[in-house]
Amino acid sequence: MAEGEKRGRIGGKSSNPYHENRKYPEPTECPRCHLIYRNGRWQQGDEANDTQKTHSSHCPACRREIDHLPAGLLYLSGPYLDRHREEILNIASNQSQSAAAQRPLQRIMWIEQGTDTTEIATTDSHLAMRIGKAIEGACKGDLTIKHAHDAQLVRVYWERSG
Ligand SMILES: [Zn+2]
Repeated sequence: MAEGEKRGRIGGKSSNPYHENRKYPEPTECPRCHLIYRNGRWQQGDEANDTQKTHSSHCPACRREIDHLPAGLLYLSGPYLDRHREEILNIASNQSQSAAAQRPLQRIMWIEQGTDTTEIATTDSHLAMRIGKAIEGACKGDLTIKHAHDAQLVRVYWERSG
């Protein structure tokens, strides 16, 4: 049994299929986003090396997108948001692009505008927190981060009333 599997059983939970540290045979290509798993991590394909025969498996980020199961949810609300929506959504998209350059598994899954709240879902909890902190840094307001009990979903709330 692999070390990671042993650890995953502590607390009675089966191992997390979305976990970034899960091992795959190398090289494995994701048939959906074409990232390549090589040297122990998912990364952008390298054309010079991609001619060799590869295994095929969805990367953890695509798996979450297919299952509609985010790792991070960011809720934006307050009157300030209505007046600065474009600016705030630009911050989110800039943060996601700069995160993806280093960590291609960190993606925005959807942005849904409700009547009072805009919801941003991410494939990685760090990205939700990163976007929330960037918005707080640029626009002030109040940021709250709540970790679920099993630590597989982080909810981030940002609100500015003024
Ligand atoms: Zn993928």
